[in-house]
Amino acid sequence: MLLNIVKAKTEQGKDFNFDISFDLDNGLIEDKHYNFLTPVNVNGVMNYQNDVLTINSEVSFKLQVVCDNCGESFEKDIKFDLNEKFIEQYDSHNEEDYLIKQTCVEIDKPVIDNLLLNIPTKMLCKEDCKGLCAVCGKNKNFSTCSCEALMEELENLDNPFNQLKNRR
Ligand SMILES: [Zn+2]
Ligand SMILES: [Zn+2]
Repeated sequence: MLLNIVKAKTEQGKDFNFDISFDLDNGLIEDKHYNFLTPVNVNGVMNYQNDVLTINSEVSFKLQVVCDNCGESFEKDIKFDLNEKFIEQYDSHNEEDYLIKQTCVEIDKPVIDNLLLNIPTKMLCKEDCKGLCAVCGKNKNFSTCSCEALMEELENLDNPFNQLKNRR
């Protein structure tokens, strides 16, 4: 996605607001079985000075994610700061530098580079997600089962000290 920077280049040293949205490919996050539910929005300020375009912005979007604890899918808002520099191509530059293409910059590049770093590695549908029952596999957030009580009973039956107690 190209972001037009003509204004910033004509009035150097001055801040210009920008607000741009674009779709990103689900392939970027498919390893995690996540999906983009909204376009990615980048909102912030650009400033061009001494052959460098500086961007200070916030990236925001909504994901469909899967709870690591119970496997239920839910929506998650993601927000992160994106502060980057783009340089003119005529300078010698490193491969990882973001380059200015005359009147615009490819704003999606730094977004993609920073995307995975800013998506939490552990997703929980809620802080106190109860997870799945280890015995019957039911989601304990939605239903209760008697498995745990039953297991406890069985353990007590097997316990030899209980049998001793019963003999007395
Ligand atoms: Zn959960
Ligand atoms: Zn159960």
